[in-house]
Amino acid sequence: MRYRRFGRTGLNLSVFSLGTMRALGSPEEMQAVIEGAIAHGINHIETAAAYGASETYIGRALKALGRPTVFITTKLLPQGDANQVQRQIEQSLERLQVSRLDGVALHGLNTPEHLAWLASDGMARLRQLQAEGVIGALGFSSHGSLSVILQAIACNQFDFVNLHYTYFQQRNAPAIAAAAERDMGVFIISPADKGGQLYRPSQRLQDLCAPFHPLHWSYRWLLSQPAITTLSIGPATVAELAFPLAVADQVAPLSAAEQAVGDRLQAVMQETLGKDLCQQCYACLPCPEEIHIPEVLRLRNLAVAYEMIEFGKYRYGMFGRAGHWFPGQPANHCTDCGECLPRCPGGLEIPRLLRETHEQLKGASRSRLWQGI
Ligand code: SF4
Ligand code: SF4
Repeated sequence: MRYRRFGRTGLNLSVFSLGTMRALGSPEEMQAVIEGAIAHGINHIETAAAYGASETYIGRALKALGRPTVFITTKLLPQGDANQVQRQIEQSLERLQVSRLDGVALHGLNTPEHLAWLASDGMARLRQLQAEGVIGALGFSSHGSLSVILQAIACNQFDFVNLHYTYFQQRNAPAIAAAAERDMGVFIISPADKGGQLYRPSQRLQDLCAPFHPLHWSYRWLLSQPAITTLSIGPATVAELAFPLAVADQVAPLSAAEQAVGDRLQAVMQETLGKDLCQQCYACLPCPEEIHIPEVLRLRNLAVAYEMIEFGKYRYGMFGRAGHWFPGQPANHCTDCGECLPRCPGGLEIPRLLRETHEQLKGASRSRLWQGI
């Protein structure tokens, strides 16, 4: 396991962090996973008040393990007044059985309304708790637009940021760069699962990434970037730790063979999609029907080029069901109004592509708020 400085927080974190979104079935299961993670060199556990029993199970597990040295970050929603924020922090401390939180992140700073909350007395109380030493580092996670994320970074109130960012979704690249400029720590949310369900890749993706496993290649793509501190993994059992962590000591720049995979993926994307390739420029928005055109077409790009169809169904099924955690309506809401068409520099036939994507990726819908985002 390698370790990296978590930006200006000063914490030296393992390049993989234990994400505990899946609270697991019991404190004993949580204890086994934490014990295994520590044995692999992980020194950072990430949780949230909203992750069911996660904080409670972590607290019990760490006590049973004799309080090993690990950093804990929890998250709370960006809402409430000073007293409510104070109470939430006290409750997290109690559940985790600690007197101090190494990190606290605002959970889902997703909208302009959330940005406005940063001027509230609730946020002031968080800063006060940080000044008193109850909270070490202060950060935020976001599933919002790039604009909201960049504004949150630019306000300079945060020491670290938790973002979605993988080879298969590079929209947040400017946010990673902006965070690095401000010496913020960067935590990547769920690069294996939300990043492409890479633990069960399509045969096509396996072939394209050979001789590497797509999960390992994707991890390496992230670990080769010095601006990124740590990647979350969320194993359900100890047995699920060893395979992903096989690359935990590989933080060097991409080798020629690894770079060749990236070149191949890019070339195949271009060749397979042809004139229907969505370049992810986001110029087509806004859509009056609130269809997140670029995200629908990103899922289409991946489904057509790399046969990432199950992943596409998994994410597509969340449109219209997860609010600001995964914004946008299903693509069959398109009314053919044509407003987006002149804005697309590639001249894509957006309504047709949306219809095709809906047919290909519609399936069992899901809205598992904390497990699905
Ligand atoms: S044509 Fe469809 S996707 Fe484009 S702006 Fe109109 S409703 Fe939205
Ligand atoms: S404007 Fe065209 S290329 Fe750009 S994101 Fe929208 S559909 Fe894709």
